[in-house]
Amino acid sequence: MIPAAFEFQKARSIDEAVAAISGTDGKILAGGHSLIPALKLRLSHPTKLVDISGIPHLKGIQEKNGEIIIGSACTHAEISSHQLIREKLPFMARGASLIGDPQVRNYGTIGGSLAHADPAADWPAMVLAAEADIEVQGPQGKRKIKAKDFFTGFFSIALHEHELITAIHIPIPPPGTKTSYQKFIQPASRFAIVGCAVMRFPDGRTTIAFTGVSDHAFRDYPAEQFVSGKELTPSAIHAAAEAAMVDIRIAGDSYASPVYRNHLAKVYLKKALQEVS
Ligand code: FAD
Repeated sequence: MIPAAFEFQKARSIDEAVAAISGTDGKILAGGHSLIPALKLRLSHPTKLVDISGIPHLKGIQEKNGEIIIGSACTHAEISSHQLIREKLPFMARGASLIGDPQVRNYGTIGGSLAHADPAADWPAMVLAAEADIEVQGPQGKRKIKAKDFFTGFFSIALHEHELITAIHIPIPPPGTKTSYQKFIQPASRFAIVGCAVMRFPDGRTTIAFTGVSDHAFRDYPAEQFVSGKELTPSAIHAAAEAAMVDIRIAGDSYASPVYRNHLAKVYLKKALQEVS
């Protein structure tokens, strides 16, 4: 349980972090709650770690130009307790509060969680339902990636080599928007065996995203069609749950078989839709 030797650099700015990582086999270190265990198990053995936890531009949550912008180095605890998030995106405050334990929430960051892209992580479902843009910066400059294009497979994301996630941009939901995050918790780690995020806008448009169910988080467009723009009656909710998981390769493990996960996903979608109705 001892990591291989590595060089350590604490970056003071985003540019310094990008320069430090470029051209190396190094890794970004944020909260360390996924990376350090991987280093200790020697699943990963970079020769350099670039610590971004002290970069002021990666911290803070603000409202600007119709968006809520969350710095990538914000911890789960900071997001969960932030007044703006509690008011405008209450499902994110709740979802963040359900991550791991206090130590994980006080160190783990939203950027680290999105970059790591654990198939059972909570943030991917929430940023998908919120139709967020992920802002990144690398040797070629800055760009934004839509959440729907970000999660590409098992622990795989659309980040290029040496790119850093810098912020998460979320359109401010119009007044009257309702949100829900429902999670069936793995009792030891508290990762999601199934997590379902839903946003219901005042015009009835509804976004639905799942985590924990498959090899990566995804938007469930077929389920959305059964409730978007329609009254959330028990029969519409039932129809959406029936339509969910079409063409999804459902994961099975020692916690839940594919059949049980499929059942849980539909139950947790119903709970989420009931909460926003
Ligand atoms: P790190 O561990 O520092 O980094 C993780 C990976 O992301 C590394 O590859 C790193 O190079 C890369 N990285 C980090 N930041 C960036 C960035 N800004 N740009 C590009 N790459 C970056 N998660 C949940 O969602 N739900 C849970 O219930 C849950 N329970 C947990 C329980 C335990 C006991 C533990 C140890 C972890 C748990 N986690 C859970 C994971 C936790 O949320 C991690 O903190 C998170 O996945 C990684 O964030 P981090 O800041 O610690 O990243």
